[in-house]
Amino acid sequence: MTRVMRYLSTRGRSPAVSIGPAIARGLAPDGGLYVPEALPRLELEAFARDGTLAATATTLLAPFFAGDALENELPRICAEALGLDTPLRTLPQQNASVLELFHGPTAAFKDFGARFLAACMSRLPRADDRVLTILVATSGDTGAAVAAAFHRKPGLRVVILYPDGLVSPRQAHQLGCFGDNVYALRVAGRFDDCQRMVKAALADPALQATVPLSSANSISLGRLLPQMSYYAHAALGWWYQHGTPLNVIVPTGNLGNAMACLWVRAVGLPIGKVRLACNANATLPDFFAGADYMPREAVATIANAMDVGAPSNYERLRWTFPDGNTLRRLLQAHSVDDDAIRQTITGHARAYGDVFCPHTATAVHQLDQQRKAGDAEHWAVVATAHPAKFETVVEPLTGQPVTVPPALAAMLARPASAEPLAAVDAALRDWLARQPS
Ligand SMILES: *Cc1c(COP(=O)(O)O)cnc(C)c1O
Repeated sequence: MTRVMRYLSTRGRSPAVSIGPAIARGLAPDGGLYVPEALPRLELEAFARDGTLAATATTLLAPFFAGDALENELPRICAEALGLDTPLRTLPQQNASVLELFHGPTAAFKDFGARFLAACMSRLPRADDRVLTILVATSGDTGAAVAAAFHRKPGLRVVILYPDGLVSPRQAHQLGCFGDNVYALRVAGRFDDCQRMVKAALADPALQATVPLSSANSISLGRLLPQMSYYAHAALGWWYQHGTPLNVIVPTGNLGNAMACLWVRAVGLPIGKVRLACNANATLPDFFAGADYMPREAVATIANAMDVGAPSNYERLRWTFPDGNTLRRLLQAHSVDDDAIRQTITGHARAYGDVFCPHTATAVHQLDQQRKAGDAEHWAVVATAHPAKFETVVEPLTGQPVTVPPALAAMLARPASAEPLAAVDAALRDWLARQPS
């Protein structure tokens, strides 16, 4: 009998599926999130010492792909998507290190998930040979990563909706500079309008009959699972060098990146303590401080990719740790306001010459707080984006221009354009219906 990894919905009312259909669907039909029936256990000995990130990912993710048509493709998917550097850079004066996740084409960790999802989607069986349109609503980083990952993938088209004037100029440029099979629509509204329009299109059977649609939502397992690979890779490297588990501080919004870290610990790899760093959106910190879970409206901060009041992966967190008190013992979360983020960016640039993006700075601030409280352990701070993506925040604080990484510079040098779209559901429906299949 062959093993099959089956995925269930966190809400328990969807049929079990293997990884391919779970990735194709994104959200389970009952509105829940797909989770593995049981998390596998992995042995350290299964991993090659000094393997590449792609090799680590292939070993780590094999049990998650077991029994699916994509299983045999996994090594090629990992090689295609995860050939990116993820250095664990030492901060010698601070007994800490930085896990840099910003060496992909769009300079944020979203590249890992988007590229893996694209590599999976281009291999999934399809009902017919019509173009599949991937819809994305974005407030910045996700849209660029998805555009870069799906650019020129045959049989696939990406349509990005973003709120006109509410993303940074560099972010808007990144969204509009691809062309070919990537379409950027600047919506005369807010991020919530973009998200509502995408949901309405996905839920419209008549539209789906003429224009096959899918999404690249952050709750997709196709984005979550590959994010486990850099934690596994860093933790194994640390373990072989130092013989201790790696403690990690993760900047957190929708809990996707942090969930991946917790699953790596849960499958038996040497991740030690995990702390979540949030911006002024304190839904998780309040819960971990003992309050009931209370999702709320997001407030705007300078770490805007983490402006989340109702973390979309919370259901996965509770599936993994059903007992609230156990969960609170295993994990901590802290909230950092914009002033503290600014002071952290300025302080570390002055004292050590290290320049962090505002999201990464939430985790660095958490590290500083732990040091003040007497903690002397080694911690890895997760750097989720390159500071050059947020130069309008960072440069006035450090007084220095941030050097733009080459991939980002190349993107900014290309011409960019986006079509305007009204913030009503019918506008997107009509736009999609006009596209050639
Ligand atoms: C998306 C994002 C985050 C938040 O990650 P989650 O998986 O939503 O918790 C943090 N930093 C940056 C730069 C991001 O783009």
